[in-house]
Amino acid sequence: MFFGRYVEWRSRQLLILINIAAALLYLICIQISYQFINLDPSDRIAPLWLPSALSLSLFFHFEHKILLGILGGSILGAIGVLGNVSPLVSPIPFLLLAITFSLADIIQPILANIWIKKSLAQESISENSTNGLGDFFCPPAVQNPFIRIKTTLAFVQAALLAPLSSAILGAGALAITGVIHQDKILFSLITWWLANALANLVFSPILILPRFRTGFKISHKKLEFAVLILAVLTVSYLTFIKNYPIAYLYLPLVLLSVFLFGGLAANLVVAWVTMVALGATAKGYGVFVQVFQTHPLIFLQSFTGILSLTALVFTALTQEREAAQNALKKMIESLENQVECQTCELVTARQRLEIANQELEKLANTDPLTQVANRRCFDRVLEGEWRRLLRESQPLSLLMLDVDHFKAYNDFYGHPEGDKCLTQVAQALTRITHRYGDCVARYGGEEFTVLLPNTNLAGAVQVAENIGQIIEELGIRHEASPIQPTLTVSVGVASLIPSFSDSPQTLVEQADQALYQAKAQGRNRRWVYEKSQ
Ligand code: GH3
Ligand code: MG
Ligand code: MG
Repeated sequence: MFFGRYVEWRSRQLLILINIAAALLYLICIQISYQFINLDPSDRIAPLWLPSALSLSLFFHFEHKILLGILGGSILGAIGVLGNVSPLVSPIPFLLLAITFSLADIIQPILANIWIKKSLAQESISENSTNGLGDFFCPPAVQNPFIRIKTTLAFVQAALLAPLSSAILGAGALAITGVIHQDKILFSLITWWLANALANLVFSPILILPRFRTGFKISHKKLEFAVLILAVLTVSYLTFIKNYPIAYLYLPLVLLSVFLFGGLAANLVVAWVTMVALGATAKGYGVFVQVFQTHPLIFLQSFTGILSLTALVFTALTQEREAAQNALKKMIESLENQVECQTCELVTARQRLEIANQELEKLANTDPLTQVANRRCFDRVLEGEWRRLLRESQPLSLLMLDVDHFKAYNDFYGHPEGDKCLTQVAQALTRITHRYGDCVARYGGEEFTVLLPNTNLAGAVQVAENIGQIIEELGIRHEASPIQPTLTVSVGVASLIPSFSDSPQTLVEQADQALYQAKAQGRNRRWVYEKSQ
């Protein structure tokens, strides 16, 4: 809170200082403008009225906050100017003229800025709207008028037409107070207008552009920049000192500046040409005095005016092209990003699908209760192993296992306990089958199969023995069993080397028959299939 107020207080102080500086600058601009005034000693005309450019740019940056500064400079300037008029102006007309001049100086930048900002608002340029001067002093998000053709033309219109208002007011007041003769009104109006319009056109862009930090691009082209300066100086020397009629050479130099170094550099070149041309012509030097003996001023103004217009229009053109290229680049980048994102999403979706498929495959092949392979999976594995071992002529063994008196177990302990028991038996079976390719499956109900590829009968019998042993070790209570008070299993063992005359079903049938025998022989035993059975 306190800090906020402090900042505001400091900002106000700064604003007062800026206004004072603006007034001083205004006076300095008047003094510089007066350097060109003896161009035509009979009429004492200023061909370039720099305060006009200053007030236009200041108002562009600070709007109403700078009005007092402009007004102060303008009043002091008017007093100075009128004080120098001979014969001396009497007090009442003096006051009237001072007020009218100051009013004219204020109205002109206001009108110009209304026109420029209206056009900017219509264009609503989003880029380059940074406010380099801080929001307190300047309206935020003011846009650069020199990056679009439309707004550049609006600026040119404003720069040329707004001075008409001040010229009419000024020339009118001069005529009414009798300072100039009636038949000089039009001449006075035109020269007033031209001086202001030219200053606006040439110098305002230089004072406006730095705010947007886009106009001066020389960091990587220092040598080229030095060559340009040399060329400009050479052409200036040849045109204004040596009187060669080669002023048109400024045109390619201005265009070169636009393309190589941006709008600000080009406008600086134009400003330099304007100052040198006016200064030299004022002192009676240069090609303009030589060529246009009668009215050098008007030719000089139109020449520099056209140079300035060229610089402004080409700046806008290059900026528009750059903006279009950037927009295109951004669009391509965003498209590429989109494609990349979608590809990423596609890959992720594919991975998810693969995982889901694996899950599904697992579910489809697993017995939900015991978590060993189900019948479907067993059939598939048996088929595969049969074919493989048929090629390799290697033995394939199958154990078929049935829990003894399991119905009685269910009846005695209940189904949930029966479920637990089956799970325990299945997990025990997986523990004793370690070899790669061994497959424990729930064949159905309380029957399990153990498929043993590359295992001969002796090996299969060994596994069957191990099963009997591990079931015994489990020690699951089975009070309802007529055999013993713990759970027992019967195992049928079959083994063969797959051949074309047999099928996987043969092995299953043999194991089943062996199991039947184990049951028939009193259960809780292993029984090996024999052909005679
Ligand atoms: P045997 O000694 O001749 O094999 O007699 P048994 O009672 O074990 O055989 P039977 O075929 O008469 O009965 C099998 C029982 O297994 C019947 C059924 O209730 C039980 N059973 C089958 N599947 C499941 C299951 O998923 N959970 C439970 N709790 N019991 C099952
Ligand atoms: Mg059974
Ligand atoms: Mg049984």
